[in-house]
Amino acid sequence: MALISRIVDIPLFLYIESGCVDRLGEILSRNNLSFESVLLLSGPTTFQVLGEKVAETIRKTGSKVSTLTISDSTIDTAEKVTEKIKNSQYSVVFGVGGGKVIDIGKYAAANEGINFISVPTTVANDGISSPVSVITYNREKRSIMTKMPIGVIADIEVIKNAPIRTIRAGIGDLLSNISAVKDWELASQVKGDSFDEFSTLLSSRAAESVLNSDLDDILTEKFLNMLVGSLILSGISMGIAGSSKPCSGAEHKFSHALDAVAENPALHGEQAGLGLIITSFLRGDDWKRFISIFKRWGIPTTARELNISREDIIRALLYAPTTRPERYTILEHISIDEEKAMNAAKKTGVIE
Ligand SMILES: [Zn+2]
Repeated sequence: MALISRIVDIPLFLYIESGCVDRLGEILSRNNLSFESVLLLSGPTTFQVLGEKVAETIRKTGSKVSTLTISDSTIDTAEKVTEKIKNSQYSVVFGVGGGKVIDIGKYAAANEGINFISVPTTVANDGISSPVSVITYNREKRSIMTKMPIGVIADIEVIKNAPIRTIRAGIGDLLSNISAVKDWELASQVKGDSFDEFSTLLSSRAAESVLNSDLDDILTEKFLNMLVGSLILSGISMGIAGSSKPCSGAEHKFSHALDAVAENPALHGEQAGLGLIITSFLRGDDWKRFISIFKRWGIPTTARELNISREDIIRALLYAPTTRPERYTILEHISIDEEKAMNAAKKTGVIE
């Protein structure tokens, strides 16, 4: 019998520290990377914050750099960027910005078979180093399998200066792994879904390291290092699983449903965090633990804090099963209905 091995796609290089963007030139040369022509994507604000500086640094290494501003992560924008890459001879795409910029960059680079380097300016979700892009089709968000970035340069100083709301959302998205893993276990027991121990070990340990932290201040370098590292491990767990399953269960269906039905959706990680509280209640798990940790770090625990109406919370819980019908979760398992949704949302204090 031939030797059996399993190949895991991970980034070639990874830098999580304050000021690492200043060392970009050195990082590229240390990894033997030089590019003739670079496409750099950035957001309208993040271009000024960091994009321009990164573009200048890459130019100094002798590369030609074109820049493009990304304001949304719709399929239209994703296709336009893909087209731009197709018509030019870019050797690599840099995504310098928040989730939308990185989602578009991963999608377009993977479509055209070129590499992507992730330079996150915020850590509001676990997409900074995953092979998944969340792309919006009309109002519906879909997770598309793309390709793992070849490198991640996460400058803690930049991430720390982003709105604190993004950091809190990143914690919400990370901790929701705990709910996602439970749903995958359930799907495997009830529906015979194939379950991946290694990827779920990685995604739950990543979440637990932050969950068990005794740090009160989420803006310290120590905390942010741990958060960014854990979000990166979450991304890799999705790469190992070949799907978003280790990081996306009922709580994510709830967030996707809110995006579709709510008048004013909040950040993905904030919504997933609320979803974690409600779905933990539905499973009979210790949801109060999440409430007390969320409160300690200023993460929203109520619909009111997110400016979402109680009607939209209930509507989203009922709509959630349709958002990814093939994924079996606690919502399908208990046949969520209006009474159960109302009871869970009220008892957990998510709605009054
Ligand atoms: Zn997520």
